[in-house]
Amino acid sequence: MALGKGYEGQNCSLARALELVGERWTLLVVRDAFYGVRRYGAFLSHLDIPRAVLADRLNTLVDAGILQRHRYQESPPRDEYLLTERGTELWSVIYPLMRWGERHFATGEPLRTFRHATCGTELDPAGRCPACGQADVPPGDVESRPGPGIPAQPRQDPVSVALRQRPHRLLQPLL
Ligand SMILES: [Zn+2]
Repeated sequence: MALGKGYEGQNCSLARALELVGERWTLLVVRDAFYGVRRYGAFLSHLDIPRAVLADRLNTLVDAGILQRHRYQESPPRDEYLLTERGTELWSVIYPLMRWGERHFATGEPLRTFRHATCGTELDPAGRCPACGQADVPPGDVESRPGPGIPAQPRQDPVSVALRQRPHRLLQPLL
């Protein structure tokens, strides 16, 4: 029997959330949006994802109020995608999940580290600042820095290059 497409029979808010963010690639698109990726071409080259899949995921995220579309050029028409307030709340899910993956499934040193931008202290695995005692450091106050795990042959797409060149404040445009 084929696996059902959704979780309609599950009366559970986790199932409803997974309908959206549990789809393959979706959370990586959201992660990139936190890194300040805004444009279709930048998502495409960084994620190495089929065009149709990326277009579908962006539409789903816009429909769900997680990303908002903003037209930055009229001819030809070009849009960029920014996290909404609802989408920005996903930081408190994505960051601990990333650290959990690092703890249990990492194949090397982390590519990036995350610091509280205002004091320079590395966040703990739950996203707190140990120095300030701030429980939920908002992503706009987080700085991503190149970590020790840069591979011997690093990726050359513009997003990967920008992320390993210098520290970068989350949510600020990267390119
Ligand atoms: Zn701090």
